[in-house]
Amino acid sequence: MTTIRVAHLYPDYLNIYADRGNMAVLRRRAEWRGHELEITGLGMADSIVAGAHDLFYIGGGQDREQLLVAADLSSKAEPLIAAVEEGCALLAVCGGYQLLGRRYRGFHGEEMPGVGLLPLETVAGEGRLIGNVLLECEVEPGLRRTLAGFENHAGRTLLDPRARPLGRVVCGYGNDGESGWEGCRLKGAVGTYLHGPLLPRNPWLADWLLARALAHRSGGEPTALEPLLDELEAGAHAVSAGRAQAGGGAAAVRRWPRRARPAGS
Ligand code: GLN
Repeated sequence: MTTIRVAHLYPDYLNIYADRGNMAVLRRRAEWRGHELEITGLGMADSIVAGAHDLFYIGGGQDREQLLVAADLSSKAEPLIAAVEEGCALLAVCGGYQLLGRRYRGFHGEEMPGVGLLPLETVAGEGRLIGNVLLECEVEPGLRRTLAGFENHAGRTLLDPRARPLGRVVCGYGNDGESGWEGCRLKGAVGTYLHGPLLPRNPWLADWLLARALAHRSGGEPTALEPLLDELEAGAHAVSAGRAQAGGGAAAVRRWPRRARPAGS
C-alpha cells in the first residue's frame, strides 16, 4: 500500500466546480487499487515544501477569488514548477488553469500574475464560452481517448507555439473558441477548462494522474494501473459526450453588457 500525498491548493477560494467530487474520485480509485490518499489543503499561509507532495490539485474560481489568491500563488511559482519538473502530477481546472500560465487579465481589466508553469496567457473576452465539450486527447503517441465535460469561462487562453494542448476540440469552445485546442499538458501537469465534474466522467484521466503520483512517490516510472470495471463511469461519459455532440458543436457565445453582468460571474 502506498500513501499518495495530495496538496489541494486554496480549497477555500478555488472550489466552485465539483472539486470535491474530483478529489473523491482520486481517493476511491486509489483505494480500489489498495492505496490511500492523504489530502492536505494548502492556503495562503502554507508553503510548498519540496518533496512533500505527489499530486497537486487546483480548482476553478471566479475572477474575484482568482484575484485574492493570484499574488500568493505566483510567489510559490518556484517550488511548484520544481515539483512538476521532478515528476509530480498536477490537475488545474478553469480558474486554476488560467493562473498556471504567465498572466490572466480578468473581465474588468484586473491584471493577475501567473505561476508561469504552463506556456500560455489568458485574457477575458466579451462573452462567456459556455456549453458541453468533447475532446480527443492523444494520451501517449498513438493512444487516443476522449474527455467529456462542461465549460464556462470568459477567459481566452492562448497557448505558446511550443505548448502541448490537452486535446483537440470535437465539440465546444476550448481554450479560446477559435484555435480548436483545449487545455495544456506539461509533463505530469494538466490544465483544462473542463469541469462539471471532470474525473467522474473521465476516469482514465484520474488513473493517468494517479499513475504519475504513484511513480513520484515510489521513485519509479509511471505504469498503468490495473483496469477497473467502470460501467457507471462509462455511462456517465457517454451521456456527457452525447450532450456535447447533440449541441452540434459550439453553442452561441453569450454576451452580457458589462454593467448588467450577473453578480459573481
Ligand atoms: N473567472 C474565469 C473566467 O471566467 C474562470 C471561471 C471558472 O473557473 N469557471 O474565465
